[in-house]
Amino acid sequence: MSLLSVVVPCYNEEETVNLFYDALIRVVKPMDLEYEVIFVNDGSKDTTLSKLMELYKSDEGHVKIIDFSRNFGKEGALLAGLRAAKGDYVTVMDADLQDPPEYLPKMFEVMEANGDDVVGTRRVTRKGEPKIRSWFARQFYRLINRYTEVEIVDGARDFRLMKRQVVDSILSLEEYGRFSKGLFVWVGYQCEYLEYENIERVAGETKWSFWKLFRYALDGIIEYTDMPLSIASWLGGCLTLVMGFILLVMLVRSLFGAAITGNAVVIALVLFMGGAILLSSGIIGEYLAKTYDEVRKRPHYIVKKFYE
Ligand code: UDP
Ligand code: MG
Repeated sequence: MSLLSVVVPCYNEEETVNLFYDALIRVVKPMDLEYEVIFVNDGSKDTTLSKLMELYKSDEGHVKIIDFSRNFGKEGALLAGLRAAKGDYVTVMDADLQDPPEYLPKMFEVMEANGDDVVGTRRVTRKGEPKIRSWFARQFYRLINRYTEVEIVDGARDFRLMKRQVVDSILSLEEYGRFSKGLFVWVGYQCEYLEYENIERVAGETKWSFWKLFRYALDGIIEYTDMPLSIASWLGGCLTLVMGFILLVMLVRSLFGAAITGNAVVIALVLFMGGAILLSSGIIGEYLAKTYDEVRKRPHYIVKKFYE
């Protein structure tokens, strides 16, 4: 029988882990599969770990827990889970039931029927989400799809069913920046998306603040395209040309006796230039920071204990 690994990152999910586990088991038990559920406790500050330990003890053999030494973020948790997963099929799910386990059998069906290597899911609506957040999300997908080599489907969730080979490919990528949404697509393979309407969290609240999401989107863009760097040099080049021309005109005019006037214009130009330079060095700084991360090669997470 084939083995299905379910990877679940958890950060302060005391209210949801039991609900999630029950819902998952109800779906997975009747399927013709062996299964393992790998919970990654991402430094929760509530009772998530003890809730997970209860599951671990009551369902010996199916539940595994990777306990981090602190909160390292969802990307690190995903990576740890994928590394530990031994399944012929691997799926990634949120603990809050926003990724409905009921879709699993359907995902297997589609995979079987069409010979896909990956079956992903995407939300076609974002109801229950703040409007401004949805707007920024749309802009993010527009940007990343236009300017990078990876095409990330709008609303694609991390919830996906992957064959062993796909997971091995993802793990073989050695870069430090683990922007999973990008890595999942970058490795290629035949992939299909099931669509569904947004489902709100069963309990607890989102762990992603607006700024955390904004930073996450920025990371995604910087890791997959050099386009912002070329904006900087393009802007710099244009400015130099235009300014050079203006200076030349002023010089010629002053040679013919015209007084150079208009302090306001000069101040505006100086500020404009200053802004452009700051923008450019800021963009370069972002890439430099990424390079620093890559070179430093710190681990993405530290495992305090692995309950196998
Ligand atoms: N998560 C995590 N570490 C973090 C933040 C979130 O492991 O630092 C987990 C969280 O427990 C959940 C999943 O990632 O299982 C998605 O988080 P959440 O539901 O808060 O995000 P949203 O669905 O609101 O985007
Ligand atoms: Mg959620």
